[in-house]
Amino acid sequence: MQTMVQTSPAVLILLGPPGAGKGTQARMLEEEFGLIQLSTGDLLRAAVAAGTPAGKAAKAVMEAGQLVSDDIVLAILKDRMAQADVKAGVTLDGFPRTDGQASALDALLAEAGQKVTAAISLEVDDEAMVARVSGRYTCAKCGEGYHDEFKQPAVAGVCDKCGGTEFKRRADDNAETARERLKAYHAQTAPLIAHYAKAGVLQTIDAMGSIDQIAAGLGQIVARVSAT
Ligand code: AMP
Repeated sequence: MQTMVQTSPAVLILLGPPGAGKGTQARMLEEEFGLIQLSTGDLLRAAVAAGTPAGKAAKAVMEAGQLVSDDIVLAILKDRMAQADVKAGVTLDGFPRTDGQASALDALLAEAGQKVTAAISLEVDDEAMVARVSGRYTCAKCGEGYHDEFKQPAVAGVCDKCGGTEFKRRADDNAETARERLKAYHAQTAPLIAHYAKAGVLQTIDAMGSIDQIAAGLGQIVARVSAT
């Protein structure tokens, strides 16, 4: 694992539509740089599975491919950011997704004397995203991502990473919901690219390549921004 040289913990944001590879890349950044992957989608899915009030309120919204309210998302994000492990630095995966969330994040970080280190926009083609999202599934045990067409386990039915034999698919990973999620991305989240460009922390990366090509590009960005 490479260590980050900067003194305050890095706060990276991965911006991009569903299927751009944010989750996969955030997991790889955690392995390579020790930056904790913080996915509001994962936190919300855990709340839905646990049947918490937030989870109950979020379930139908998520299944429709729309955005959960800022209040709910900010409450679960703040809880997670208060935990000790995030002091190592974080990659925010799927957060912020609205102007309100971006401003709340700026304020939360300012309270701790921090700011966003880099917001990295993963640039992709919309139709390719629908195909990527529709075929994906993960190992139920370790979360490793697979795809019906693009990335099958080396041995059918056995996770390459942990040997697990159970896999799961998200309820919202189908073509119809993927199109709704793309619409929400363009309407509410893509404008944040301008917000981070104005703040001088925007980086962009072509995310149409292979997982390893994207990871290499991201690694270079992280090494660069962490050295400044
Ligand atoms: P993801 O796992 O990031 O693709 O998110 C799955 C779903 O969770 C999204 O389609 C939204 O319904 C919801 N969600 C995740 N993160 C956020 C967020 N930051 N703001 C609003 N809704 C979110």
